[in-house]
Amino acid sequence: DITLFKRRSDYEWEIEPTGGMRVPGVIYASEALVREMDHKVYEQTVNVAALPGIVQASYAMPDAHWGYGFPIGGVAAFDPDEGGVVSAGGVGFDISCGVRCLHTGLTADDIRGVQKLLADTLYVRIPAGVGSTGRVHLNREEMDAMLTGGAKWAVDRGYGTAADLDRTEEHGQMRDARAANVSDRAKKRQQDEMGTLGSGNHYLEVQEVREIYDAKAAAAFGLKPGDAVVSIHCGSRGLGHQIGTEFLKKMAIAAGTYGIALPDRELACAPIHSPVGEEYLGAMRAGINCALANRQILTHLVRGVFADVLPQARLPLLYDVSHNTCKVEEHVVDGKPRRLFVHRKGATRAFGPGHPDVPEPLRAVGQPVLIGGSMGTGSYVLVGTKEAEARSFSSACHGAGRAMSRHQAYRTWKGRQVIDELAGRGILIRSPSSRGVAEEAPGAYKDVGAVVDAADAAGLARKVARLEPLVCVKG
Ligand code: 5GP
Ligand code: MN
Ligand code: MN
Repeated sequence: DITLFKRRSDYEWEIEPTGGMRVPGVIYASEALVREMDHKVYEQTVNVAALPGIVQASYAMPDAHWGYGFPIGGVAAFDPDEGGVVSAGGVGFDISCGVRCLHTGLTADDIRGVQKLLADTLYVRIPAGVGSTGRVHLNREEMDAMLTGGAKWAVDRGYGTAADLDRTEEHGQMRDARAANVSDRAKKRQQDEMGTLGSGNHYLEVQEVREIYDAKAAAAFGLKPGDAVVSIHCGSRGLGHQIGTEFLKKMAIAAGTYGIALPDRELACAPIHSPVGEEYLGAMRAGINCALANRQILTHLVRGVFADVLPQARLPLLYDVSHNTCKVEEHVVDGKPRRLFVHRKGATRAFGPGHPDVPEPLRAVGQPVLIGGSMGTGSYVLVGTKEAEARSFSSACHGAGRAMSRHQAYRTWKGRQVIDELAGRGILIRSPSSRGVAEEAPGAYKDVGAVVDAADAAGLARKVARLEPLVCVKG
């Protein structure tokens, strides 16, 4: 209901604080996208605004849709010195789910020459699907080393190169991770799942750079029309999910202990400065390392496939972003720098030009922002902006966002029909689950073009390139 919002601009919609809200809600989207958003996004943005210690506003990105407690596409920052909280539901169950994009040094025409062989080989060698297991098995000691070391752990064991770490957030290793805070159950779930894609929404895609919108940023990123790239979208698998599940319960109790009024049980949280809050942060950071290591091992597997099918290929990493995290960052609020705990759930960090955490070769233009669309439509590369610092704590959308539930999609499409239709358009899908493909049909997602246009117009990130799929291995 559009009348619930105050229009700040064509792409910024404010929910004025009422009731328990400590700050306003702000949704960045076009009017059409706001009208299409389910009412839950409004409710959840309002609920998050009521949590203790929240700073500036409770934000929803243009791809926002209903999530557990916090909306997917939600951004909220908390000040630890003002009773600020950390919430497992504000990070999401798939801790550090994210996207990385690899160059190939090849053109889309090179891919088309061997497209079927490439699709089949990727499908055989990249473990995908519910409960899929890989060839990497971790004992107790190695599990803890992985949870502390992240992608650096993986590179030290031969899965990739030091250059990969330079192109990964946190240099591939999240600091202050505490393997001891991760339960045995979570570790057990993960012991055979490293180097696996997982199910449903996760994918490995070979894509063609189809259009460039920003020549300078594209040149800095090394992207030009006709180039082939590989994108990998996955997260921390069973381990992250188990951490999320366990801490939701602990936080529900902690919220009671600290007298935090929860507008919705799903918003379970604990003060940042509390035993449960600190315990979660240590475990969550270990979950981030798990996701970074997982994408690093998958990168190694992809390079192995290309070495066999297209030996002339070289696959350096463009960038790796996580979109389910809580990170400590300094942000200027009302003219003063503050140390905040920024929750991004289904939202991508998007640092602008000059930010010290952007890899040196890209620093002059800003951080690459990698956005999935669907297996049948474009995906996008954007670049962080200076303005996003004040607008969204340097955050942008992470995808198209779902337009309908999995169940609704499953009733609307058949997997086979989706696969055949896409094959007719030159896109080869490989998946162990025909149901999964139906649930992930391109029509189940919002129009990604409209979403990134809104992010661009709102100043959250600027469009750089559009990628079109050639091969998609779906979980
Ligand atoms: P999530 O992290 O919320 O599960 O998914 C992120 C985004 O990935 C979704 O909003 C959707 O736009 C996009 N996405 C889902 N499946 C695919 C796929 O198979 N290929 C591409 N390119 N994007 C996808
Ligand atoms: Mn994701
Ligand atoms: Mn995920």
